[in-house]
Amino acid sequence: MRKPKEPTCRDTNLLLRFDKLNLEFFGGLVCGGIGWRRFPISSDKIVTQACCVFEERLIKVNYLMDDTRIPLWYLDFVIYHEMLHLQHGPQQFSPDGYGHPHSLRFQCMEASHPDYHRAVEFEEKHLPRVINSWVAWKKWTKKSTKPTPSKPAAKKK
Ligand SMILES: [Zn+2]
Repeated sequence: MRKPKEPTCRDTNLLLRFDKLNLEFFGGLVCGGIGWRRFPISSDKIVTQACCVFEERLIKVNYLMDDTRIPLWYLDFVIYHEMLHLQHGPQQFSPDGYGHPHSLRFQCMEASHPDYHRAVEFEEKHLPRVINSWVAWKKWTKKSTKPTPSKPAAKKK
């Protein structure tokens, strides 16, 4: 197996992007925090790009999204989506407690973002390549850092 290319990250300041989006789209009214987090990649390569914890008013963004192959406009769109969650709150719940976080109102606001269509296209066409390369890199590092079994010590006679 050839050594895969190591992913490179930007070390993006998420709070600056949050503040910029807040002023641009929410009149500065969204209150909350934001930070990077390492999310696991599932075996079928499904990745949580970001999530919103209402109770803490906190947006957690997958560290994978800091990859230099993810355009900043796309990262901004992902943050915008989570900020909509902060703005809208947990919304409606069915009697069994199941939440519907993407109501019609939410979807309309999401679709009104100027980058909505190209973000959907990027997610379908380009994001899987970035995820694949992270999976390959992870596999490689796991393999190459496996301890080599040491030879049994020679028995003393
Ligand atoms: Zn969502």
